[in-house]
Amino acid sequence: MIAAGEVVERPASVVKELVENSLDAQARTIQIAIENGGRTRIVVSDNGTGMERDDAQLAIRRHATSKILTEFDLFRIKTLGFRGEALPSIIAVSRLEMLTSTGTSVGTSLEAHEDQIVVAAAPAKKGTTITVSELFYNTPARLKYLKSDVIENAATIEVAARLALGHPHVAFSLTIDDKLQFSTSGRDDQLATIHQVFGANVARHMIPIAYACPDFTISGFLGKPDIARSNRYQMITLLNGRAVHMPKIVAAIIECYRDFLAPSRFPFVVLNFKIDAALVDVNVHPSKREIRFSKEDSLRAALRELIPLTLSGTTLFAQPSASKVAHYKSEQVADSTPLELFEPGVSYQPPSDEVPQSRPYLRALAQLHDTYIVSASPEGGFVFVDQHAAAERINYEKYQALALTSNYAGEPILPLVIDLKPSDMTLLTSDKIATLNKTGLEITLFGPTSIKVVSLPLWAREDDERSYAESLIDQVLHEDVLDVLKLRDESIASKSCKRSLKANQRLSLDEMQTLLDRLMKTMNPYACPHGRPTMVEFSRYELEKMFKRTGFQ
Ligand code: ADP
Ligand code: MG
Repeated sequence: MIAAGEVVERPASVVKELVENSLDAQARTIQIAIENGGRTRIVVSDNGTGMERDDAQLAIRRHATSKILTEFDLFRIKTLGFRGEALPSIIAVSRLEMLTSTGTSVGTSLEAHEDQIVVAAAPAKKGTTITVSELFYNTPARLKYLKSDVIENAATIEVAARLALGHPHVAFSLTIDDKLQFSTSGRDDQLATIHQVFGANVARHMIPIAYACPDFTISGFLGKPDIARSNRYQMITLLNGRAVHMPKIVAAIIECYRDFLAPSRFPFVVLNFKIDAALVDVNVHPSKREIRFSKEDSLRAALRELIPLTLSGTTLFAQPSASKVAHYKSEQVADSTPLELFEPGVSYQPPSDEVPQSRPYLRALAQLHDTYIVSASPEGGFVFVDQHAAAERINYEKYQALALTSNYAGEPILPLVIDLKPSDMTLLTSDKIATLNKTGLEITLFGPTSIKVVSLPLWAREDDERSYAESLIDQVLHEDVLDVLKLRDESIASKSCKRSLKANQRLSLDEMQTLLDRLMKTMNPYACPHGRPTMVEFSRYELEKMFKRTGFQ
């Protein structure tokens, strides 16, 4: 029973083991049903190979497995630790009934409870149905440890959804307390599976990606920021079809989305990684569903390139299908000369090969409350643009480019002496001064509680020199973990905010159009540097729906 606890933690783990057996048995249809969170009953029914009577009797014995000869792919390696242990472990803590048939002879029914096993001939279709009831009847501690039905159901839904997504060629259904939770078609189409499991809205907001190199391939879907979540449960990573925790990979994905999401929002992604099983490290406890592999760093690097490129190349406001993006290509943003409207004195044009050319052209129509620009999108909808957020995005990218391309730092325009509190002065160690230097801010001590700024980065050398230097020093002194790049990003973001066109400022139609054109030329026009949206779309589809017009798709 102790061993059983490792395999069978909760109802969801029973579901997982049973479904994995069905998948191993080549099933194309797998039906899952649970009752009362899985406490009273768990049924997994498949149309796989089934078992002959002798094999069925053998299967429930510890260390009995039919899989010993094919321990080569990741799946086998992953189950190594529990080889032939799932069924006996489940039987140790429940009542198990099995109905199975290979379809060639009469089927077998088997009932195992406590130490008794009853086997009989029984008519059955090809396949196997396993019913687990009274889970943990003899281990009260485990039973007590189970959470509410809602939470146990959620765990089963999560397990079943991941199994379905990892095996889109298998038709799954999940029924909870007689209510169908989802069913998939098994058409070997992962986007269709996403639709069937998570609904149309999620599927509509998915951007396909694909990447291949000799060591691995990446495929799957990136959720648009619109469907971001407040937790990581919908960041689904499948390694060779199997859902595994990949904390470093997940962290890298979150980082890639940082520019596109508000703080503490997490993207909805379904990503498949195919990696040679030989590269996968099996020395990690299998029940943790956590693995390591030697090419993890190059996989991360590939994602860091792929994700931002995909997100910045896609129309990120609500949009029915990916084919629309291609359609926009014919309506490229008109090439206008860089205007100095939003930041006099510095002209910058992003290198054109970096900016995706498939952006929709937004035509300015009007200004609302002197704050929002109303524009028409090429697909026939309205796009409302927040003028401040838009200007912030433009300026942010401009300062970023400037910070990247020039290392030039120079003296402040006016002598800049900053007084520090005595307590701050004691925090100013040589390490902190070195950190400040790395950000381009060079200082010397100037009296007992003052410092003098010797030089600062070019992009910061403008009218807000003092506040820039002060806030930078403040952050360096008071934050524990210092990330120089992040620090620079943040000060650039705050500078772009301060220096940007504000709300409540009237614009001419020309100025609005210029703002829109320049916005659409940025790497990420859909969010301001703080991750808030710059624009909101009322698509044609939504308009027609609101007006209840018929004949639209
Ligand atoms: P393992 O999967 O590690 O082999 P299990 O205890 O999960 O161990 O299963 C034991 C054996 O029972 C399997 O090797 C397989 O031969 C058989 N078996 C279990 N479930 C099924 C099923 N749904 N269809 C066909 N055979 C099954
Ligand atoms: Mg198994």
